[in-house]
Amino acid sequence: MAVLTDSLGRVARKLRISVTDRCNFRCQFCMPTHPVWLPHSEILTFEEIYRVASLFSRVGVENIRLSGGEPLMRRDIEQLVELLAGIPGIRGLSMTTNGFLLAEKAPSLKRAGLKGITVSLHSLKPERFSQITGGGPFEKVIEGIKAAKASGFSPLRINAVIIRGCNDDEIADLASLALEGDVTVRFIEYMPFDGERHWGVDKVVSGNEIVARVRERYALVPSPRPAGSTAQLYEFEDGKGEVGIITSITQPFCSDCDRIRLSADGKIVPCLFDKTGFDLRPLLRTSGSDEAILNFMRNAILQKAPGVETLLKKYQQLEHIRPMHTIGG
Ligand code: SAM
Repeated sequence: MAVLTDSLGRVARKLRISVTDRCNFRCQFCMPTHPVWLPHSEILTFEEIYRVASLFSRVGVENIRLSGGEPLMRRDIEQLVELLAGIPGIRGLSMTTNGFLLAEKAPSLKRAGLKGITVSLHSLKPERFSQITGGGPFEKVIEGIKAAKASGFSPLRINAVIIRGCNDDEIADLASLALEGDVTVRFIEYMPFDGERHWGVDKVVSGNEIVARVRERYALVPSPRPAGSTAQLYEFEDGKGEVGIITSITQPFCSDCDRIRLSADGKIVPCLFDKTGFDLRPLLRTSGSDEAILNFMRNAILQKAPGVETLLKKYQQLEHIRPMHTIGG
């Protein structure tokens, strides 16, 4: 069957599924302090997610990442992992999590077939971590990372969103977590997806500046960037590990973007910077045929924007897009 191709010839190979909009943290750069949750009835069931993911795999999607909200807050998430791991053609199955429930869930997630884990960790100072995450317990997240290491997840990554005046003094310290080579640390440029609209260009620390700050302590060698990758990686000259930068703001990587997203309430979102999506749920819930759903997907991807710049031009300025927890990052 023909692969899912957009109007510029980019093929969708990676599907990011938000399994819930709910989260037990309140990261200021991601969501409002008092979010309005989606009604349960609007959130896709495991069977619906499985069906959509299976159809995506029939048209070329090979990798799935589960996100949220906080994916580990979705009850019995291991059941969904097991279903998705069994889809023929799915080679990579991973999750992005805040790590709060990871210590207890890492072994069962591994058994269910999850391969990779990315844990968000924005500070190594417990008090600051708690402040950034709206009360997140630092030690519990560190335990989660240790449990993920012990369970043998690969790839195992740490994501840190860097915000000027907040945690940019910790860039080299965070990078040092990657020195042993058992985890990759990736720094994300702050994007306009926060809940309380604190975002501003002045708070963005560019990927170039992040690399320069790491280089004040460690020599780095850039690695070739695989097509479709969100991160530019660098190896430590004197270590085993690597760090990366995700430069969605200063150097967007749209020309070979191979991602497509499914929101918790069943919208296909071709680009992270889209303000709306294509609502697949009515079709799913009115016994739409597989062919009708595949046609819907084909139409949605054809409307994928050429890149972040085009969308930002459309919105006239770099402005608040939406809270990140509604789409999953
Ligand atoms: N709850 C999970 C977590 O904390 O990792 C998964 C969902 S979270 C929305 C997915 C990723 O998006 C996280 O790595 C988070 O740090 C990142 N993120 C959230 N808001 C962001 C923003 N405004 N700019 C850049 N990255 C952001």
